[in-house]
Amino acid sequence: MANTLGIIKPDGVRRKLVGRVISKIEQSGLVIRGLKILQLTPERAEKFYAVHEDKPFFHSLVEFMTSGPIVALVIGGHGSIEKWRELMGATDPARAKYNTIRREYATSIEKNVVHGSDSAANAKIEVSFFFREDEILPRE
Ligand code: UDP
Ligand code: MG
Repeated sequence: MANTLGIIKPDGVRRKLVGRVISKIEQSGLVIRGLKILQLTPERAEKFYAVHEDKPFFHSLVEFMTSGPIVALVIGGHGSIEKWRELMGATDPARAKYNTIRREYATSIEKNVVHGSDSAANAKIEVSFFFREDEILPRE
């Protein structure tokens, strides 16, 4: 019953997709255990995406992720890591399945509306990147 980290990226907040993304999470049976709106500084965004620092898209990604507010979510429930990745869809919206958030709303491989942790180890690191223990609802 591990938690995972979700982010509604600046494109999603700008385009007023927050309600729709949260609605999909709730309707899937997953549970929101933490929620905040904030804007990343370049330093924080670089740190969050440090695994991608050697990729050609890194600089542009950091610029995008700092371009406006984001919504950070702690998502819980059975199989939350895999279920949230499934709801999001593939990184590239052209390859994402129907009814996934990225297929429906992403406008490019970069501006793909949402983030989700990709493993249990990263979920733990990423949740604690944004949330203190006392900002997360306890598991039932
Ligand atoms: N990204 C990009 N170009 C690429 C691959 C990824 O701009 O060719 C961006 C995109 O916003 C993606 C993020 O970098 O969500 C992190 O990439 P990752 O491969 O970890 O994809 P994710 O785990 O988000 O599906
Ligand atoms: Mg990733």
